[in-house]
Amino acid sequence: MRITAAVVEELHGPFVVREVEIDEPGPGDVLVEVAGTGFCHTDGIARDGDLPFPLPGVLGHEGAGTVVAVGEGVTGVREGQAVVLGWPSCGACRNCQAGQPRYCLRMGELVGGGHRLDGASALRTTDGAPLSSHFFGQSSFATHAMTTASSLVPVPEGLPVEIAGPLTCGLATGAGAVLNTVRPEPGTSIVVYGVGTVGLAAVMAARNSAATTIIAVDRHASRLRLASELGATHTVDATDTDAVQAVTDICGGPADAALECTGVLPVIRQAIDSVGMLGTAVLIGGAPAGAEFTADHLTTLWGKTIRGTLGGSGHGQALIAALMDLHLQGRFPFDRLVESFPLERIEDAVEASYSGEVVKPVIRMGG
Ligand SMILES: [Zn+2]
Ligand SMILES: [Zn+2]
Repeated sequence: MRITAAVVEELHGPFVVREVEIDEPGPGDVLVEVAGTGFCHTDGIARDGDLPFPLPGVLGHEGAGTVVAVGEGVTGVREGQAVVLGWPSCGACRNCQAGQPRYCLRMGELVGGGHRLDGASALRTTDGAPLSSHFFGQSSFATHAMTTASSLVPVPEGLPVEIAGPLTCGLATGAGAVLNTVRPEPGTSIVVYGVGTVGLAAVMAARNSAATTIIAVDRHASRLRLASELGATHTVDATDTDAVQAVTDICGGPADAALECTGVLPVIRQAIDSVGMLGTAVLIGGAPAGAEFTADHLTTLWGKTIRGTLGGSGHGQALIAALMDLHLQGRFPFDRLVESFPLERIEDAVEASYSGEVVKPVIRMGG
């Protein structure tokens, strides 16, 4: 079948919108007509080679849309169903079996292999030349995406499917860091470094928890304002302030938990230094490949935990479903982060994301 996709031809190359061919769904496949796909920095990282993905190919991993065809053996998903395309997992490895599919041992292949887990790519050019597919199991910068039934999450009535895609990655990552990793006890203090999509999702999740001090740190005044509106009890503009000192002043000592959402090495150090005895620093933001960070040895001995998290940890499906319900109840207003761009303007969306002008661009496939 002929579809339209944003193809990246080579490392650092632009997104070129053109027609490509997609397979009919094979055994276990689900074909989704994409309504909208969020642009995430991970797409940019893959285009630039920091996350390996064979090019030419189609990126996009925050898709949502409508099921239009299912392959042999697929149950539990029907044509016409509105779905979010979640992260893929093999379902069979030790971590998947232990209820941690975000840490599937085959994650590398699943997100960046460029093809189905046990097979070929689903995409090719109109001349029949190979194109990589299945980026994060979906390659959804396209009007249609081939995925698997096990990664799909149904979208409830009342939630616009075209903006639901970012729930699968950026929003789940920030919210899950709070709800699955920190799990705030009553009175917990949390500081969030960097309030883009991930950090703002963390703020909104913390607002839905028993945390009573929620501090947002950023350099963009507009984002700090938004953080306040979405649940931050305090904000710190790090442009000309010592953020660690500001956090200490607000909390009357170190914070209980720090979420690092920037991937900037000096900020990682600030996040670690913001928590004290028995505190937890959660590393979320992606630094460039090969980056190393340092921590103070003595204060780390004080029962401090420094831990990483991917995609919000836990069962993505359960988390995404909960975030959709919270949204419908007015308790997770992620639509305030979203601005839509038609597929033809995908490069404008990328630029708006990098400049900080738009928190979460969503590429709309319907024009
Ligand atoms: Zn697995
Ligand atoms: Zn992402």
